Amino acid sequence: MTYEMPKLPYADSALEPVISQQTIQFHYGKHLQTYVNNLNNLVSGTEFEGKTVEQIVASAPDGAIFNNAGQVLNHALYFTQFIPDQKSAEPTGGLAEAITRNFGSFAEFKKKFNEASVTLFGAGWSWLAADKDGKLHITKEANGGNPVRAGLTPLLGFDVWEHAYYLDYQNRRADHIEALWKIIDWDVVEKRYK
Ligand code: MN
Repeated sequence: MTYEMPKLPYADSALEPVISQQTIQFHYGKHLQTYVNNLNNLVSGTEFEGKTVEQIVASAPDGAIFNNAGQVLNHALYFTQFIPDQKSAEPTGGLAEAITRNFGSFAEFKKKFNEASVTLFGAGWSWLAADKDGKLHITKEANGGNPVRAGLTPLLGFDVWEHAYYLDYQNRRADHIEALWKIIDWDVVEKRYK
């Protein structure tokens, strides 16, 4: 299997001012491309050749293959969860009900998710994920981690590596996190929950 770049469902300048064209060009065009290239090189001739990124993230030991597979999976989910002209600032349907059931309200969920994103020390990801019973969890993952490793389904991920926001927000991670809510495509997140 050859691992490929996910297609961006929007123009590289379409998420401005939340995420600049320059950040997309570096983050998607350079950082993600490097993870994809690394993964293709690393799995060649190993037991992981031919496996999906999800299978690798779930089963590979800590190390370069896991790190790069994690980042390929993370960024494929990340770059396809945004939309330039957001239809709704909140989810609807089954996901909205699950958020209310698990966190009390959307506002309370957002507060907890922001807290997780801002307090994650160093590089990593915050995720909304679902377990096999549909229960929702907020997880903090270091480096290239993904909830798939714990048997959960990832629904929404915020990248808090500095490469995701430093050109646009410098040290202001909290401002970047708050702005991201304006470009979430809740239809995509809802589909991942079903
Ligand atoms: Mn990233």
